[in-house]
Amino acid sequence: MSAPKPRERRDQPQWARSRPLSEPLSTELAAADTDRVIYDLTGIEHQYDALLGELPDIRVRFALKACPEDEVLRCLADRGAGFDTASPAEMAQALRTGVGPDRIHYGNTVKSDHDIAEAHRLGVRTFATDSVEDVTAIATHAPRARVFCRLATSGEGALWGLNRKFGCAPEDAVRVLATARAAGLTPAGLSVHVGSQQMTCEAWQQALDTLAETLTALAGRGIVIDHVNLGGGLPALGYQDRHGTPLDPPLDKILAVLREGMDRLRALAPAPLAFVMEPGRHLVADHGAVRAHVSRLTRRRGPDGSDTHWLYLSCGKFNGLYEIDQLTHRMVFPGHPDEHDHVPAIVAGPTCDSDDAYGDGRHPVRVPASVTSGDPVWILSAGAYATSYMTQGFNGIRPLPCVCVRGQEGHH
Ligand SMILES: *Cc1c(COP(=O)(O)O)cnc(C)c1O
Repeated sequence: MSAPKPRERRDQPQWARSRPLSEPLSTELAAADTDRVIYDLTGIEHQYDALLGELPDIRVRFALKACPEDEVLRCLADRGAGFDTASPAEMAQALRTGVGPDRIHYGNTVKSDHDIAEAHRLGVRTFATDSVEDVTAIATHAPRARVFCRLATSGEGALWGLNRKFGCAPEDAVRVLATARAAGLTPAGLSVHVGSQQMTCEAWQQALDTLAETLTALAGRGIVIDHVNLGGGLPALGYQDRHGTPLDPPLDKILAVLREGMDRLRALAPAPLAFVMEPGRHLVADHGAVRAHVSRLTRRRGPDGSDTHWLYLSCGKFNGLYEIDQLTHRMVFPGHPDEHDHVPAIVAGPTCDSDDAYGDGRHPVRVPASVTSGDPVWILSAGAYATSYMTQGFNGIRPLPCVCVRGQEGHH
């Protein structure tokens, strides 16, 4: 199958602007006769290798929530990754890949006494924190553990900011880690998360500045940490915004800012500093696709009198495409390659929830006019947060089955 070449024309349908689809994904998509989410394990491995090629000194702790599929986790674990987990259940799943608990950390600042004790029982010894209350609980239920303190970031520039709920100011981080030391814990590190699908270099620059400031303040108190955790937030490359325009995040520039920032922090630190990253979406988003099908293409007049096409699909916000409130996915209608035959439409999922839709009158999605009920549709760059955000039977709709595929040896 030859992938359509990207072109500059503004009026071309979205599917024609596609990046090339990988051979394992296109083969499985073409062969699938029922809905499913498909992961290309070879693509994920290449993505992991590419990231380590760009940032050779980092330890990757894959944010498990971005793709909690055993086969995907095992393939990352086999390549040397560990896991950023948010609950004892995620830890248990990470341990099933065969990695030791030394390659797993408890990255959630929100945890009960019971969660902490359970993590300790599973052998996990490194915990994220951002408050004195949490540190005190860790000291009680996971004595002598290593803790790293999460610093707040603005979340600006990201599609999902992750601010407000997590992290503390530099002076509070010093207090939290001093409390940890006094309670018999090891004040081991600092962390940030710049927000998911972070689109700007400035956000990283600011986070690195905050880390440098805090590192210096800690050294002034005689607290010497051994690592900095740069969190997640690295972008996927294949998304479009709500209006169907490719997002095109400046990945190369972001990586350059990271390299420079790590050098700066190393030079500042009183002792050797290791770097951890917790990529989630960056490793899996572009290597997963959803095979869905058309329920129906309709045309009807809205309350304001406007005449609109609606394309109803078998998948939407509650079964595989949770993130359509912030972005759109490229779609391929394999039975309808004719570019001239398309209409502007609003795309919606199958549920009785009106949030389960994207596109609007001003920014419709272009879809082939001749699609009929049952036609397959391929939804691309849908590998991140697809299965973890699927509801269990909302409106009777079952979660999509998950299939993992590989490229033929030597194909790439
Ligand atoms: C979700 C999460 C990540 C992964 O974020 P991405 O934007 O998918 O890379 C990393 N670290 C923590 C603590 C998270 O909660």
